[in-house]
Amino acid sequence: MTDYISISTLNDFIFCPYSIYLHNVYMETDEGLYHATPQTKGKLAHEPVDLKTSSNRSDDILALPVYSEQLGLMGKIDVYKRKEKKLIERKYQLKQIYQGQLYQLWAQFYCMTEMGYEIDSIAFYEISTNKMIPVAIPSDSDKQELVNFISSFKAFDPLIPIPVNPNKCRHCIYCNLCDKTEEENVY
Ligand code: SF4
Repeated sequence: MTDYISISTLNDFIFCPYSIYLHNVYMETDEGLYHATPQTKGKLAHEPVDLKTSSNRSDDILALPVYSEQLGLMGKIDVYKRKEKKLIERKYQLKQIYQGQLYQLWAQFYCMTEMGYEIDSIAFYEISTNKMIPVAIPSDSDKQELVNFISSFKAFDPLIPIPVNPNKCRHCIYCNLCDKTEEENVY
């Protein structure tokens, strides 16, 4: 049976692979125990979509569960505008677009196209500034880059030592629970 990777964890894996291990260990516990302010804000920003209330246009599909057998991915999209054939990922704030966030959007794109949806354009929408940020449709080489990244995700072994970056640790929601660092969380 295929082990599906959650699209929402792709960005976290780039930030620190060990955080995925900790996420799996602690996912049954109360999120309030480890969720820091930025994560809570981001989660709240997604809530209207998850509750399907952020758009009342009948041609918009919200919070659609998606998957790709080919890539071994599963997750949920934010918004698909049927008339425009446009896929949108909402973020509370986007000072810059990180590679992991791009991988998330590419992953959603490949899931949806495999499921039979037509997509002409993809974009991020920054909630705090009410700004749409268009992104190029991934090329064949982008797809190969995503495939390679997914392979490294699947091959990760939490027992193998990883480089620890104290600056990242200080901003990591698992900082106080992580056995790799003595740093204190800044939040
Ligand atoms: S605290 Fe540091 S080492 Fe531990 S998961 Fe977070 S970033 Fe990785």
